[in-house]
Amino acid sequence: MRIWLSRPHMSGNEEAKVAEAFASNFVAPIGPQLNEFEAVVSDYLGGGLHCVALSSGSAALHLALRLAGVGHGDEVWVSSMTFAGGVFPVNYLGGKPRFFDLDPQSWTIDTQILAEQLGIAATEGRLPKAIVPTDLYGQSVDLDQLEALAAKYDVRLVVDSAESVGASFSSTRKAGTGGDAAILSFNGNKIITTSGGGMLVTKHAEWAEEARFLATQARDSAPHYEHSTFGYNYRLSNICAAIGLGQMQVLDARAKRRRAIFAKYERALAAPGIDFMPEADGQFSTRWLTTLTIDPEQVGANREGVRLMLLEHEIESRPLWKPMHMQPLYSGTEYHGCGVDERLFKNGLCLPSGSDMSDAEQDEVIERILSFLAR
Ligand SMILES: *Cc1c(COP(=O)(O)O)cnc(C)c1O
Repeated sequence: MRIWLSRPHMSGNEEAKVAEAFASNFVAPIGPQLNEFEAVVSDYLGGGLHCVALSSGSAALHLALRLAGVGHGDEVWVSSMTFAGGVFPVNYLGGKPRFFDLDPQSWTIDTQILAEQLGIAATEGRLPKAIVPTDLYGQSVDLDQLEALAAKYDVRLVVDSAESVGASFSSTRKAGTGGDAAILSFNGNKIITTSGGGMLVTKHAEWAEEARFLATQARDSAPHYEHSTFGYNYRLSNICAAIGLGQMQVLDARAKRRRAIFAKYERALAAPGIDFMPEADGQFSTRWLTTLTIDPEQVGANREGVRLMLLEHEIESRPLWKPMHMQPLYSGTEYHGCGVDERLFKNGLCLPSGSDMSDAEQDEVIERILSFLAR
């Protein structure tokens, strides 16, 4: 591939930070860079929240759901249109997902459908243990509405902010600050990366303490290894945290660049039948990936045609996430919605959006799409 969907983009600051980590000999999942990385992210999010750096976003979700009390047979209500890592941890705990559609105005979880279903479940005495809405493609979910619903029905809220690091929900509130806990990802394709990593962000000091305990094999305090429950080896490496320190210095610049890439696509490709992901009122999306839908009736070409044409020219693009209720693994699982997510999947495409993509590369992507659609 010559032009990628989203590549790691180093700032040049990372190697010095990694060298410092080596010099300290904390080549381990413990150390000063790890502590500093947590502090820097906590500050970035506005302070006052507890951050626990972990080996992946999926690990963070696994811990958050365990802390939320999810166990065998418990329901967890999840956005259907998401990445597998945002759902599989429900299975790790023996929980049962129930899937929810998106709101066509925001392409994030439909809070009206969610509210209706919570009302029904409350009267039937089968409320979920937790709700996991997904911040999709760089945009925050409606934290005000979701937090109000979670409070009203006394269910835990874990926001999957893996795709929205650097985004804001409002002028005073960043994405990643929501619910009982939020999870972040620093995987290689995300807006910033630690090569692989994640974070649990929580307002509850006791959740953070318990997460650190569980992420380091649940060792009770004793000179020997003493265990009264089982844990995991989920802590982030200090070396990876050092990469994260370099990346945090450029997070806002990366968001700015991705937004500029989005804006250029939007200007160049605007046409009847081509719709870009909306940005919710008052919000600041990072536009992690530029996502659009192509209506074959109006455009005279379909998503797959565009994707395969780009692939022929070694340009990577990808359909939107396939909704989880359409996955073979989850066939027969409850789904509430009107198929907004199914239509987005059918017609939706993510275009190359990496912050290191050159203007010439983006121009090539645009020209190839325009000339394909003109045929
Ligand atoms: C990337 C991602 C995750 C998982 O993060 P990893 O660090 O890859 O484990 C979870 N949810 C969503 C929506 C994601 O995009």
